[in-house]
Amino acid sequence: MDATPDTLALIGNTPLVRLKGPSEATGCDIFGKCEFANPGASVKDRAALFIVEDAEARGALRPGGTIVEGTAGNTGIGLALVANAKGYRTIIVMPETQSREKMDTLRALGAELVLVPAAPYSSPCHFVHTSRRIAEETENAIWANQFDNIANRRAHIVGTAEEIWNQMHGRVDGFTCAAGTGGTFAGVGMGLKAHDENVVIALSDPHGAALYNYYACGELKSEGSSVAEGIGQGRITANLDGAPVDAQFRISDADGWYWVQRLLSEEGLCLGLSSGINVAGAVALARSLGPNKRIATILCDTGFRYLSTLHDPAWRAEKGL
Ligand code: PMP
Repeated sequence: MDATPDTLALIGNTPLVRLKGPSEATGCDIFGKCEFANPGASVKDRAALFIVEDAEARGALRPGGTIVEGTAGNTGIGLALVANAKGYRTIIVMPETQSREKMDTLRALGAELVLVPAAPYSSPCHFVHTSRRIAEETENAIWANQFDNIANRRAHIVGTAEEIWNQMHGRVDGFTCAAGTGGTFAGVGMGLKAHDENVVIALSDPHGAALYNYYACGELKSEGSSVAEGIGQGRITANLDGAPVDAQFRISDADGWYWVQRLLSEEGLCLGLSSGINVAGAVALARSLGPNKRIATILCDTGFRYLSTLHDPAWRAEKGL
């Protein structure tokens, strides 16, 4: 492999791994897209790069500018690393319930961190609304707006989906993942469908999110709750609008944690809970499609980001996991 010209060229072109346990459990071939291999260790580096370069191309982001965003953490890490590589400042608004590791990483990257209490989307204190207000009040600043800025899903249409298609040699029967902004789910779904209409695109929705009911019966209604960070959506974001959806599964934290543990102990992969929920979803999709199918999902970020939460037995006991 040749040297890349700079750090930003390290974003994307991630490896795809066949997951042995999930494949053997279903008689299918289940593949995980190793998004933890991005320089910011998550799938959100891709969206961050596309959002920043789109703002530059539109003339909205100018030299010396500031990037402001509300995020569960990974988008902030992606934006901060892209901003550092390009000479911008970042202000990140984050709910105080997110993992300590994400906050420490953002501080290490030099992002200015604004912590807000976890509040419903309807509250003006919600991290999304707070970040928009800060962007409006800051000179020469853009609001990245990852939920409704479709530069986010474009990263996955032209990047992630193309890579999966090529890495699987054009033999893809199904794809599934969960949605935070929906950029990954919609973008990969659209990109794969453009190659082959018959690829089954399934949403794996955590408890506490409203999308399962929306796609199953047209009603945005949530049930239960989840401790998974970065996923669980209550509305149709601009990134989700028009996403192809052939099937939907509701996946519990317990099922996600089961696969996180098995992948860690049997395959040496240290992942977070959203990745576990995606793998549990891929297993559900494999069982619904039958044996000998080829299914892809997303391994969203590294489990090293959750040593003080998911991978800490005391934390899990407190959360009943
Ligand atoms: N998993 C984790 C850990 C995340 O941080 C995110 C981003 N919010 C996702 C999954 C979902 O990605 P997307 O925003 O593309 O739906």
